[in-house]
Amino acid sequence: MTKLSMHEQLPFDEDATASPVSTGDLPRPDEVRAMVTEAYERYRANVDGHVADYIPVLAKASPSWFGISVVGVSGKSFEIGDVATTFSIQSVSKPFVFALVCDAIGYEEARQRLGVNSTGFPFDSLMAVELNVDRTMNPLVNAGAMAATSLAPGATAAEKWERIRDGLSRFAGRELSVDEEVYVSESATNLRNQGIAHLLESYGRLYFDPDQATDIYTRQCSLGVTVHDLAVMAATLANGGVNPLTGEEVVGRGVCRRVLAVMATAGLYELSGDWLYEIGVPGKSGVSGGIVTVSPGKGSLATFSPPLDPAGNSVRGQLATKYLAERLGLNLFSSAAASRD
Ligand code: GLN
Repeated sequence: MTKLSMHEQLPFDEDATASPVSTGDLPRPDEVRAMVTEAYERYRANVDGHVADYIPVLAKASPSWFGISVVGVSGKSFEIGDVATTFSIQSVSKPFVFALVCDAIGYEEARQRLGVNSTGFPFDSLMAVELNVDRTMNPLVNAGAMAATSLAPGATAAEKWERIRDGLSRFAGRELSVDEEVYVSESATNLRNQGIAHLLESYGRLYFDPDQATDIYTRQCSLGVTVHDLAVMAATLANGGVNPLTGEEVVGRGVCRRVLAVMATAGLYELSGDWLYEIGVPGKSGVSGGIVTVSPGKGSLATFSPPLDPAGNSVRGQLATKYLAERLGLNLFSSAAASRD
């Protein structure tokens, strides 16, 4: 598999395009519409990447599916492409469950019990070099995500699951339900996650029965969403935890910014550094092809396209997000020199 370099694929020079800087608002709705349409047309013909098949049912996804949705903190939205297609939320659920857990137990306790670093190893660790991919410990990779799921409030598996389903639904602003076909397929093939859960249990880093925690996590990953749902969920994180469509406060402001901090360092797995370098906003990808990006105080961008790069991130999604982050002024690190009188 060729490693895709976003830089090679995006020859435009952002210094030459008058990129909006990171302060202020999203561009006007007609400008957003034009830019999102342009990004869609530009990358829809891209055929790089492979649809995930380690969860058998995911292999049924069409490689040509491609949808983009932008939701501003004002609640205004624009979307294009396969926006009615429902897919399983997968790892995009992780920051939202982490947010719910932080809100329930406090972000300081969540940090202590889950960890919030990229590698979890000291600066001079040889182990970090050897084991970086598998031993990261934060709530956005499987081990930490299952530990976060195990911390969801509730005495029983049913109570914990309902708390997660309800919480993710409040982020989305509509009732979400499990895609049973994905749940059954993933449950039959998730031995690795079961192993991780038992290993965590042995280290005292899982906070509920390992088999039940794995099951709740698998349901959580199987929730069906559209690209618009993902954008609304992400827009809630861009809006201090208040869903811009329903007006409901789903999580507190303090939780919100800490969740975004972890997304910035770990949302795109081992390519999180490349993502931050190129795109400059907190993001989270999932193996069914979704990516959310959050621009604090402005809004969100969600993309859906199943073909993935070797790290498990949607190829078209990354390209379209990079293109739009420049044009919509999402990059948090972007500045322009102040005028001197
Ligand atoms: N449910 C998937 C798993 O645990 C989620 C992975 C992903 O989206 N990257 O493998």
